[in-house]
Amino acid sequence: MGPVARKPLMVGNWKMHGTYFEAMQWVQALSYQLDLADYDRVDVGVAPSFTSLRSVQTVVQMDDLPIHIVAQNVHWAKEGAHTGEVSARMLAKLAVSHVIVGHSERRRHFGEDDRMVNRKARAALSDGIVPIVAVGETLEEREAGDAEETVGRQVSGALARIPSDQVARLVVAYEPVWAIGTGRHARPSVAQEMISHLRNRIRSRHGEAADQVRIIYGGSINPGNVAALMAKRDIDGGLIGGASLDPGTLAACVKYWT
Ligand code: PEP
Repeated sequence: MGPVARKPLMVGNWKMHGTYFEAMQWVQALSYQLDLADYDRVDVGVAPSFTSLRSVQTVVQMDDLPIHIVAQNVHWAKEGAHTGEVSARMLAKLAVSHVIVGHSERRRHFGEDDRMVNRKARAALSDGIVPIVAVGETLEEREAGDAEETVGRQVSGALARIPSDQVARLVVAYEPVWAIGTGRHARPSVAQEMISHLRNRIRSRHGEAADQVRIIYGGSINPGNVAALMAKRDIDGGLIGGASLDPGTLAACVKYWT
């Protein structure tokens, strides 16, 4: 059997930007710049804030856009006394197909640890939502020579107790913390090396699922560096923060693949 073809995935993470109205305009503007050939070649997603999900869903469904709706977070419980939280079932009803879990901003500012990330990933899967498991080392960890160990531990923790057939469907986002929002992207060879390491680590536990899992890169991607990063063998797409706030810039990154 030849190598498994993984369809690339490019997701714009809008973080805490944009009102519901702006999010509707952004997704519409993005769609004007993409055509069917783009969607055939690459899966495209946008991750608006919770308050914009319903409006973005309306645009996507009314205009029949093949754009994935991605949530930025989810709680692991089915329901209950969790003021301020949102469940996977609530997201699934809004046609959310993917959810980011373990973003470094949540790990750093909201104390999310590997166990919580794992619970979130499993909750998402149980409601049919694909987790995008974000992992990445800090600058201190890289300088101490601990990057592979840190990121490997994060991936193993996030995937604990998830069966291999489900691991095959999910997405891992390697996002070095020092590259997020800094304008300083990882060198393509550095990103490739880490992503290949992660794939091998997943292979040691889940076998062939490692050839199907999509591992994307995130951290200061822009139209000027996207080609060099995406050209690497193991990099299956990108998670794009700052540059995704301009629909034209996000479209330019997507179009690397076509
Ligand atoms: C992110 O927040 O996931 C991200 C990659 O941000 P930026 O592209 O701005 O570095």
